[in-house]
Amino acid sequence: MTTIENNMSSQNFLRRIIEEDIASRKLDKRLWSGIPGPISLQKNINEIDLASIRTRFPPEPNGYLHIGHAKSICINFGLAEQYNGACHLRFDDTNPDKENIEYVESIIEAVKWLGFGWYNNKRNNIYFASDYFNYMYEFAEELIKNNYAYIDEQNDNEIKDNRGTLTAPGIDSPWRNRHFEESLLLFRKMKDGEYPNGSLVLRAKIDMRSPNINMRDPVMYRIRHSSHHRTGSKWCIYPMYSWAHPIEDALEGITHSICTLEFEDQRSLYNWFLEKLKEIGIFADPLPHQYEFSRLNLSYVVTSKRKLLTLVKEGYVDGWDDPRLPTIFGLRRRGYTPRSIRLFCERISVSKSDSLIDYSILEQALRDDLDLIATRAIAILNPLKLIITNYPNNHSEICYAPINHHDKNLGYRSFFFQKELWIDEDDFQENPQKNYFRLFPGNLVRLKYGYVVKCTGYKKDEKGNILEVYAEYFPDTKSGTDGANKIKVKGNITWLCLTEAQPVTINLYEHLFTKPIPDNEGNNFINYINPNSKKTIRALLEPDTINRDVKTWQFERLGYFIIDKDSTNENIIINRIVTLKDSYIKN
Ligand code: ATP
Ligand code: MG
Repeated sequence: MTTIENNMSSQNFLRRIIEEDIASRKLDKRLWSGIPGPISLQKNINEIDLASIRTRFPPEPNGYLHIGHAKSICINFGLAEQYNGACHLRFDDTNPDKENIEYVESIIEAVKWLGFGWYNNKRNNIYFASDYFNYMYEFAEELIKNNYAYIDEQNDNEIKDNRGTLTAPGIDSPWRNRHFEESLLLFRKMKDGEYPNGSLVLRAKIDMRSPNINMRDPVMYRIRHSSHHRTGSKWCIYPMYSWAHPIEDALEGITHSICTLEFEDQRSLYNWFLEKLKEIGIFADPLPHQYEFSRLNLSYVVTSKRKLLTLVKEGYVDGWDDPRLPTIFGLRRRGYTPRSIRLFCERISVSKSDSLIDYSILEQALRDDLDLIATRAIAILNPLKLIITNYPNNHSEICYAPINHHDKNLGYRSFFFQKELWIDEDDFQENPQKNYFRLFPGNLVRLKYGYVVKCTGYKKDEKGNILEVYAEYFPDTKSGTDGANKIKVKGNITWLCLTEAQPVTINLYEHLFTKPIPDNEGNNFINYINPNSKKTIRALLEPDTINRDVKTWQFERLGYFIIDKDSTNENIIINRIVTLKDSYIKN
């Protein structure tokens, strides 16, 4: 292993764990029939798992995925890719109330768009936790029969009150020691719909005095008379996450179950359930193991499906794919490439310490991805007319500009130079500020790919607005000719010719929030919505830009831009992805 690879693996503690597990050979003899199931099913087929490890990405289909999920996707699918393993896409659809098929489909599309797949050795590893409801139910009966679970008749509040606190132990439920046969009977009736919501729960019988509150007889099943998007009204009892998740992992032969840090305290419970199921003979070693990493917190956004839902439902943004949202579809519409998101996830790496990642790191990943490949073009966002007074009327001549200056083999764009041009308002100052090298009376600049010109004057209206600027050109200074370097200038400005420039609509986006952590300490993030997060302007574009076979460009001196999905031939709409430089860095 080279030093660089060595550093790479030690940077990421999950890679280190996996490398140790593989080296120890303890994962070698796992059985995997290709169909999730308990050990009895895997034994019959007697196949050794060809995947070196199994990870999973387990979204709940209750919203659109966001950049935080992208991190988890890159970790789980990325590790599987790196170590010849398999990563399962598993819908954790055990809560009927908030889930639906629209979200399922959007998640499939998002993971595919990021460039990951779930096929391994011809197996399509896409699973639904709701397909395991029978198993979860059966295994719960087994726990009851073995005196590891009981039906509790206390209501939610009583259960909460008796749970104790971090300093005080909990109190045993009066139903804790009922005979297991009685619990079994009640559990079956519960499943058959004989009780209303909230009247009974199934609880694991662990230890009401455990220092870890999660171990104080956690609820495994509750009654919910709700229709589920896949199982319909078949079930009226639904498993809790902490019961469902270890079972899902074990049924699928997951080796490394990677989740975010808030589940750290649940790891003992995860292990307790799996140990008991192993003791009963349902699962066998090696059991899945849970590992935690710190979730992604990104500045100037909210990454919680619930908060994103509020922004969408209450109309603060234009849908789930609004380019200001950190949803994967919002980022896609904004112009982020799958590669830039994967690069970002690689750069922020994986650790166990919570931190806030600055949004500029995501932006830089996009710039780094596109710089070498993006087609260049010129756009003028705030047009101001420039007249070259000594240039002949009704004359045009062609100018050439590289498609991408990093690779001249890609060829050249061409456009006309004429007497009347557009420049950007920002590129002229009547009274120049210090260190301003662009156009002002008496100054010389190069019109990029064209000529060196000298500003000779300007015209204002009675309100003081600049209407047009005048200049004279130096005929032997055209870019690409021998005379190009004859006159040295400090300023280099972009322009378009008046008759050719194509009018377009451009959306200029800024952060959706005015504060780096809009939901800090329970703040209502709605109060910090940036009223200027979207500005729509009419602008001018280099001719033929739209006709080229690309949809993402670098507009010279401005940044990266992409055609919007609502763009039509009549109304061309372009989104600014990111400026060329980080505008938030203070000079
Ligand atoms: P949300 O609060 O947005 O609903 P969640 O964790 O409830 O997030 P799930 O659909 O349950 O969303 O998450 C699927 C996977 O993505 C989980 O393994 C979860 O840990 C991971 N994940 C979610 N948010 C982040 C984040 N900000 N950073 C890293 N991983 C995340
Ligand atoms: Mg959730």
